[in-house]
Amino acid sequence: MHFAKRDIWKLFYTILILSIIFIVATSYLLWEVKKEDYRERQETQVSSTSYYLEDLFGQYETILDIIGENILQEDGTIEKKRKLLDQILALNPTLACFRIYAPNGEVIFASSNIRGETANIFETIKGEYFEKTLRSHSMVIGRTYYMHRMHDLIIPIRKALRDKNGKVIAVVASAMRISKKSKFVRLLLLQQNHIWLLKDDSRYIQFYDFDKKHYLKPIPKERMEKTLQTVEKKYHTTLREIKEKGKVVTFVHNSYLTGKKSLITCKYLKRYRLWVVSSTPFSVIEQDFLDEEVIILLSYIFIMLLIYYLVDIIDKNEMQKERTLRTQAVTDSLTHLHNRLYVEKWIEKHPEKYILFFIDLDGFKNINDSFGHEYGDKVLRIVAERLVALVIENERELIRYSGDEFIFLTEYMSDIQIKKVAEKILVKVSEEIVIDEFRILLGASIGVARYPDDGKSFDEVKRYADLAMYKAKEIKNSCVIFQSSLKEEYLRNVLIEQELKLALQKNEFFLVYQPQLLANGELYGVEALIRWENEKLGFVSPAEFIPIAEATGIIKDIGRFVIDRALSEVESFIQQTGRKFHISINVSAKQFAQHDFLECFLGKIEASSIPNELICVEITETAFIEDQSHVGFILNDLRRKKVLVSLDDFGTGYSSMGILRSLPIDELKIDKSFINEIAEDLHAKQIVYSIIIIAKSLGLKVVAEGVEKMEQKEVLDELGCDIYQGYLFAKPLGKEELLKFLKEV
Ligand code: C2E
Ligand code: CA
Ligand code: CA
Repeated sequence: MHFAKRDIWKLFYTILILSIIFIVATSYLLWEVKKEDYRERQETQVSSTSYYLEDLFGQYETILDIIGENILQEDGTIEKKRKLLDQILALNPTLACFRIYAPNGEVIFASSNIRGETANIFETIKGEYFEKTLRSHSMVIGRTYYMHRMHDLIIPIRKALRDKNGKVIAVVASAMRISKKSKFVRLLLLQQNHIWLLKDDSRYIQFYDFDKKHYLKPIPKERMEKTLQTVEKKYHTTLREIKEKGKVVTFVHNSYLTGKKSLITCKYLKRYRLWVVSSTPFSVIEQDFLDEEVIILLSYIFIMLLIYYLVDIIDKNEMQKERTLRTQAVTDSLTHLHNRLYVEKWIEKHPEKYILFFIDLDGFKNINDSFGHEYGDKVLRIVAERLVALVIENERELIRYSGDEFIFLTEYMSDIQIKKVAEKILVKVSEEIVIDEFRILLGASIGVARYPDDGKSFDEVKRYADLAMYKAKEIKNSCVIFQSSLKEEYLRNVLIEQELKLALQKNEFFLVYQPQLLANGELYGVEALIRWENEKLGFVSPAEFIPIAEATGIIKDIGRFVIDRALSEVESFIQQTGRKFHISINVSAKQFAQHDFLECFLGKIEASSIPNELICVEITETAFIEDQSHVGFILNDLRRKKVLVSLDDFGTGYSSMGILRSLPIDELKIDKSFINEIAEDLHAKQIVYSIIIIAKSLGLKVVAEGVEKMEQKEVLDELGCDIYQGYLFAKPLGKEELLKFLKEV
């Protein structure tokens, strides 16, 4: 596709890019919000859990305090005090046992349930935290132990008992028993996020789950320090301050327990020297994010596909419309052939070599004029149908160029082949066309030019084919292949045309007179012939410039000049010589067709002293082609004024005998081409003979022109010709020469 990207696609891609930017930004935000969500949730959880833990530990501490108070009361036997311990134990099943130590570490007494494993624990923990307990004013929590027998966890707790002066008098030791169903577990494990506890000083895990291995060794010091440094850095503060204020902090780090990159939140419980920690592996957050993101992305892709689909439909629709418009623009509505606008497209496809046939119908104007445009259109349609049959190969194209002009573009071929194709065209066009009751015979004039031999562009080739076509028009129903001489001829014609326009002003025209004689040698009259001597072109024959003058309309002025000049000069010849003779004036068909011709002409001959019956108007058969009835009127008026009419060049045109009979003509001039051969060619002689017979039967005089040889004159005498004109007797003569001639004859 000529994909100078269409606007709608530009719009689509803009939307696509913007929406991708939007989606990326939204996803990033979503990710941030998700992390923030997790952080917030985790922090809330950690702080509320911390609160509950402090409360729980507080309760245990209270119990230890109560026990302490009781022991401090001096009265009561040991037995009684043990009983109290047993009672408290019964009320608090989560407490494992009690033992009371003297400040020096000796056991004073204990609850009665200390046996086996429980006792062992007390043994192992005895020394470890004792010193610490003695120093501390709050409950000291010991390392967590796993109880194999019960599958429970044991957390030792201890508190120093002091007298009023603050001196330690005893240490109460107990142990929290953490079973899977305990409140403690509910608080930590069954949360949305698993919460665990870490001892700050010894770096042992205080609580994670019921797996023994977690409680066997501390977290390496370095590791813990590194982690805490991360926090310090992130919060721009010191660890001390975080601990002191019990700040909830969240950061990203590899989790010690899972080894996975996690979002970790922690808070320090200063009183119990514990870190409350919660963490979520990043993978969980990512999964959560992806779950939502996938929905967003899928919806986005769906919407974009939908838009794409719509844009595609609209675009295709538009293209279809455009294509139709374009096709309409290059199609001729009458013949359904391509029109001249298509030429450019065709050239795009066939740039290398081609042949251009320029076809112009002969006599089409007549059909339009005499049958009407409707018929003209029908004729054109029929001709187009016939010609289109010649478009047998892909490379060929038939174009209706304008009116009755067609252009036939073909693959490159030799002149012989061109002639053959042209012949086919002529045959097709000349076939009889029948519309209703009318039978129409057409012809065509074809001009051919070759690309790139003759012209370097289509326009140039077309111009030369046009030139060649005009040449063909001179013959009609024929084909002319362009040659460079045609171009020269054309240029000369252009120059002639330019010069002609000024020739009258510059007084470059003059007349010569060719005498016409009777069979016995007597003078009958003269034919006035125009001459043109131009400073640039030299002498130009009227055979060359008259057709140009006719084509350009200059003939109107030239014609007037000839009539004026001929009448006035002949008037003076008659006066000078005292002889009376006929004067023939050539009048072109174009002049004749003018509406004011008759009026002008009659005015002029009335003004002249030459009798009307000595004035003869020479017209050719082409005068009748234009408008027969109009010509008929003029001729009748001329006859009424006794002016003679001569039919010139008889035998060359379509010489209808009907015309001779119906129109008022006085004289026939047999064309020189017949006279040329009359002495040698029997056929020519027979034609001339029949012309003379018909002329005589219609009462017309016969003039033979171009008689050059005596033999020709003799044959013509034999055939009964009336008047003779030709070099044998006299060439066209200038004024002086004619005067001399008139005196001699
Ligand atoms: P046309 O009317 O048939 O004139 C006869 C032409 O034959 C003249 O050529 C004349 O010089 C030539 N001619 C006469 N006898 C002989 C001969 O024995 N041998 C040869 N070879 N030629 C002979 P011209 O003067 O060159 O005129 C050519 C054509 O130009 C004329 O043919 C006529 O159609 C046209 N023409 C000439 N003068 C005028 C004019 O004043 N008005 C118009 N409308 N056409 C004119
Ligand atoms: Ca003539
Ligand atoms: Ca003639």
